[in-house]
Amino acid sequence: MRDPWRPAMRLALAEAGRAALGGDVPVGAVVLGPDGTTVLGAGHNEREATGDPTAHAEVLALRRAAAALGEWRLTGCTLVVTLEPCTMCAGALVQSRVDRVVYGARDDKAGAAGSLWDVVRDRRLNHRPEVVEGVLAEECARPLTEFFRGR
Ligand SMILES: [Zn+2]
Repeated sequence: MRDPWRPAMRLALAEAGRAALGGDVPVGAVVLGPDGTTVLGAGHNEREATGDPTAHAEVLALRRAAAALGEWRLTGCTLVVTLEPCTMCAGALVQSRVDRVVYGARDDKAGAAGSLWDVVRDRRLNHRPEVVEGVLAEECARPLTEFFRGR
């Protein structure tokens, strides 16, 4: 169940590396089309680089995927991200109507896809994406640990 998402997670990890270069928390994301392999959009944290508080990897990847498709509905798509989404990104994922969220490392302090909250699967919402967690979890957690250790 997790294995098919490994190649896409490696792309998200490469994005995470670009975030660290700009002094941002190393989190990366890609949005895959309904075929599960075509990358429609990619993003990494750019909060420090752009001064935009909403410039999280997931939000940027969703915006780029929507721009590529020419519409806001990302039905059938999958968002793959190295770290469990926060509340803002979980909300954006629900709004985008993606079918699936795949993430690597859990975020016990701020995760909103199963750890601290479970916004994406809240039964009160009418759209609830499937969640696959723990894909390359250790590899995804490593750059984060190194980043915060270096601070
Ligand atoms: Zn976020």
